[in-house]
Amino acid sequence: MDFKENIRIIEDFPVEGISFKDITTLIGNGPAFRTLIDNMAEKLKGQNIDYIAGPEARGFIFGVPLAYALGIGFIPIRKRGKLPAETVAITYDLEYGTDTLEIHKDSFEKGARIALVDDLLATGGTISACARLIELAGGKIASVDFIIELTGLKGRDKLDGYSVESVVQYE
Ligand code: IMP
Repeated sequence: MDFKENIRIIEDFPVEGISFKDITTLIGNGPAFRTLIDNMAEKLKGQNIDYIAGPEARGFIFGVPLAYALGIGFIPIRKRGKLPAETVAITYDLEYGTDTLEIHKDSFEKGARIALVDDLLATGGTISACARLIELAGGKIASVDFIIELTGLKGRDKLDGYSVESVVQYE
């Protein structure tokens, strides 16, 4: 299945010059969404993954059904102040300023094998912070999986040493 057919491109959103990849049209198509998740689950099966983790909000959209399909738990990675129990946090640089992400300290056992999932790999800033956060909390990154990769931004370079997969690629 060519999932690109289900991804809508919106030019100049959110600012001029950005060619925004809109996944709402993909998740709005039941058969395409199910096939996408089933395909990703098939690839992760047999890799001894203990948990799926994904950052809010779009990492939840894909990470949760993937965890369900594999019969394993999902770990939400959230912006600062949203999680109620004790957390581990990481602060990372954005283009302007910084952001902080958190996970619950007790969300997995030390040494657990975790697959990180997000909708899109651009510069890789978000997902490399997520990977460091999981490692800080004692987890192992078994794989890093995206629906979309913007190859021209070379986000992969920030994920050196990890097994990185994407379903569709745009330059
Ligand atoms: P990065 O940290 O630069 O790799 O940016 C990745 C994050 O930005 C992801 O969590 C995406 O949700 C979001 N993002 C960046 N560009 C797009 C886009 O074209 N469509 C949808 N999300 C995007």
